Order: sequence, then C-alpha cells, then structure tokens
Amino acid sequence: MEKIIVVGAGLVGSLLAIKMARRGYQVEVFERRGDLRTAEIIAGRSINLALSNRGWKAIEEAGVTDIIEKIAIPMKGRIMHSVSGELTFQQYGKEDEAIYSVSRGELNRQLLLAAGRFENVTMHFHARCLDLDLNTNTLHFENSETGETMEVSGDRIFGTDGAFSAIRNRLMRTDRFNYSQHYLPHGYKELTIPPGPNGTFQIDKNALHIWPRGQYMLIALPNLDGSFTCTLFFPYEGAPSFASLTDDRAVRSFFEEVFPDTLTYMPKLEAEYFSNPTASLITVKTEPWNYEDRILIIGDASHAIVPFYGQGMNSGFEDCTVLTDILDRNNGDWSTTIPEFAAHRKPDADAISDLALRNFIEMRDLVGDEGFLLQKKIEKRIYDRHPEKWVPLYSMVTFSHRRYSEALALGKKQDKIMASVMAMENIKERWDSDEVEQRILEQL
Ligand SMILES: Cc1cc2nc3c(=O)[nH]c(=O)nc-3n(C[C@H](O)[C@H](O)[C@H](O)COP(=O)(O)OP(=O)(O)OC[C@H]3O[C@@H](n4cnc5c(N)ncnc54)[C@H](O)[C@@H]3O)c2cc1C
Repeated sequence: MEKIIVVGAGLVGSLLAIKMARRGYQVEVFERRGDLRTAEIIAGRSINLALSNRGWKAIEEAGVTDIIEKIAIPMKGRIMHSVSGELTFQQYGKEDEAIYSVSRGELNRQLLLAAGRFENVTMHFHARCLDLDLNTNTLHFENSETGETMEVSGDRIFGTDGAFSAIRNRLMRTDRFNYSQHYLPHGYKELTIPPGPNGTFQIDKNALHIWPRGQYMLIALPNLDGSFTCTLFFPYEGAPSFASLTDDRAVRSFFEEVFPDTLTYMPKLEAEYFSNPTASLITVKTEPWNYEDRILIIGDASHAIVPFYGQGMNSGFEDCTVLTDILDRNNGDWSTTIPEFAAHRKPDADAISDLALRNFIEMRDLVGDEGFLLQKKIEKRIYDRHPEKWVPLYSMVTFSHRRYSEALALGKKQDKIMASVMAMENIKERWDSDEVEQRILEQL
C-alpha cells in the first residue's frame, strides 16, 4: 500500500489522516507542536470556531460524529446587541438548522486521538518541516526539542501546515506557481465572558452574539464550561483602533461608550485586553495546489481566508470530502486524482474567500441596519414559500453542500433581484405583499 505523509496535524491534517487511515494507507503524520492529546497543552485560553454542515459531513465520513457532537454547542441564530443594550435575534436557517461552537483545541485533540487509534498511522510531534526535495519526495524535519534532523520520503505528500505552510513555500520556488497574500487593516483580540454562578451562561447560550459597530465589531461564542470566547475585530490604526487604546482607562471608557452591556460580564477586561495578543487576518491564494501527482496542499496552506463566514475550517474539511470523492471516482488512482482535485476545487476556494471578505461588512455594519433587516425578512418569506426557487446565500454556504462557486454566482443574482425589490415604492409597508413576491419570482 502507498505511504501517505501528512505535514501539519492541525484541524485539516488530523482529519485527513483519519480518512486516509480508514482507506488502509500507511499514514505518517508530522506536527511542529507538541502532542495535543496530552490535556495540559490545551488548558488555558479557549478559542472556539463555528462548525457547520460542510464540516459535519467530513466528520461523519471520518466516523467521529458521536465524539464531536459531545463538544459542540448549537447556535441557532445571531443575537445583535445595540449600543443601548437592545437585543435582536436573527435565525440562521430553518428551525432545525444551527451552526455549532466547538473549542479548536478540543476538536483538534479529539481528531488526533481518533487518528492515533489506527495501527497504520504513525505520528511525530515537535517535528518541524524545514524543506522538501521535489525530485525525490523527501522531507526534512527538525525536532524542536532535541535539534535532531530527520529525512523521510513517501509516495504522496499532503501539506496541511496552515497559512504559513512550509510545503507551500517550497512550491513557491517552482516555475509558474502563483501566490498572493493580503492582510486586512483589522486584527483581532480574544477576550472572555466567564461563566456565571455554578457554571451558568451569562448571556444566551444558543446563539452567536454580535455587537456590530460599523468599522469594527465584537462577537461571542459559547464554551461548554459556561464561558464565552469574545473576539474583538478592530482596526490596527486610526481612531478608534488597537493603536489608540493604550491604557486601562482608554479601554474601559471605550467599552463603556460602545459595548456598555458587556462590562457587567467582563470583570477582567483591561487585564485580558493587554495580556492577550493582537493577531492579524490574512487571505492567501495559490495556484496550482499540487506538484505533479505527488504533492498537494489543502486547508489554510492553499487557501487561508478571513473568518467572517465561519468557513475556513469547514472549507478545509470539505477539501477532504471532495478529495476522497474524486479518488473514489478514479478508482483509487492518485495520479489522476491529485491534479483533478486541485483544478476542480480552486474556484470554490476563491469563491468562499470572496464571500468571507464580503461577510465582514455584513456582520460589522449591516446586521444592525434597518434596510438590511427588511431585506432579510423579505428573503425569509420567499424562502419559506418557495424553497425550491430561492435559498438564501447564507444557507447555501452554511447549510448545504452546493459548490461555493455556484453559491456565489447565485448570490450575485439574488443581490440584483433584491436591489430592484428594495427600490419599489413603499417597500417598508408592502414587503409581504403578492406584488413583491411576483417581482421576485419573475426575475428568477
Ligand atoms: C479568529 C479566527 C476565527 C476563526 N473562526 C472560524 C470559524 O468559526 N469556522 C471555521 O470554519 N473556521 C474558522 N477559522 C479558520 C480556521 O481556524 C482555519 O481555517 C483552520 O484552522 C485551518 O486548518 P488547517 O489544518 O488548514 O491549518 P491549522 O489549523 O493552522 O493547522 C496547521 C498545523 O500545521 C502545523 N505546522 C505549521 N507549520 C509546520 C511545519 N513547518 N512543520 C510541521 N507542522 C507545521 C501547525 O502547528 C498546525 O498544527 C477562524 C480563524 C481565525 C483566525
């Protein structure tokens, strides 16, 4: 059986390792960090992610649904917090649809544990990939604890080593390899709403909370212990920005002014603000994702995106689903599968990358906007009455398995139709009339 090497045992690498192990390949996994399966390493700050249908499908195919369900909290919609403390709930999809908050560390740990149960999987930790010899398929690793180096070769090499991938770095030195990276002017910082008395949740547990404020926003996702991890997405420069909040007083008075309802829940605001790092937000695009039929980069290594659609991990997990679908169609023939997958999947990664950037504006700005909320109401009405004709873009991206590129194209068409509807006279009064419905249907 062929030997598969997986470089990077983050979310995508560990899931891929399981999927390859289940197919009987000899799988060797190399990870720069220590072994996450030992619980101490994940203690500490909890960073959580929204898991949705594309991710769940890959998890199901990996046979670990039961385990992951135990660590996932359903969020049925967004709750918007206005400056005056008013709350507005907006359901994400149909009654039974939700996105799920999971701890990144715990999810990664569970996937690694599952991968480690296969006899045909070998894992190496503290193993940092330094380089790759493309002629011989030989990887060079350094052990970060001992300084020892190691050379390993395999039949197929998967680079799942994240947004700053070493495998991608090597491919960038090949002819006609395209690469672009772009940093947002915004960064992010994590803050915490601790659990209330007896591990209770201080705000609604089954929702993603958003404090949209135009140029910036705060969001909060629940954790199993009753806490929430909040993320402040904020400009690096200007006023206000990370650069302008330089001491405890400035932070407190800023929060008093724009996020006043959070203050009762955040006793350690100033301490956390200054001790937690500010991290940047990068978009990475590459092409091709493969080198011949031997080397492939997937997940953030080939398509890092901004987090505003909650699809980075989900799209990386879906890479694994699409890869094995194509492999099956090609009867296990990697030599056709790798180039075919790389070409097929690239437009979908580009589409979700664009959608994620667009959704930043929607989240931080529009979710609090009256016109936007009206549009959502009209859309929901059409979706309820004609689900075969109109599925909202958010639902196509989050709750379906439709290709991202198709969802984007349909979303653009819907935007045009909505613009014409919103221009109708007295739309506020007659948004739920037959004429509005007809106007939409005739344009579809
Ligand atoms: C603030 C924020 C919020 C997000 N929220 C969501 C969300 O709600 N939903 C969602 O779907 N996505 C979300 N994402 C995106 C998601 O985190 C990523 O898309 C996902 O982690 C990508 O997985 P990956 O396995 O490709 O990369 P990573 O998770 O980055 O894993 C890469 C692994 O490779 C290892 N590695 C790196 N270099 C080397 C090397 N040289 N040698 C060996 N090992 C190496 C790393 O240690 C790491 O373990 C968010 C991202 C951010 C920044």
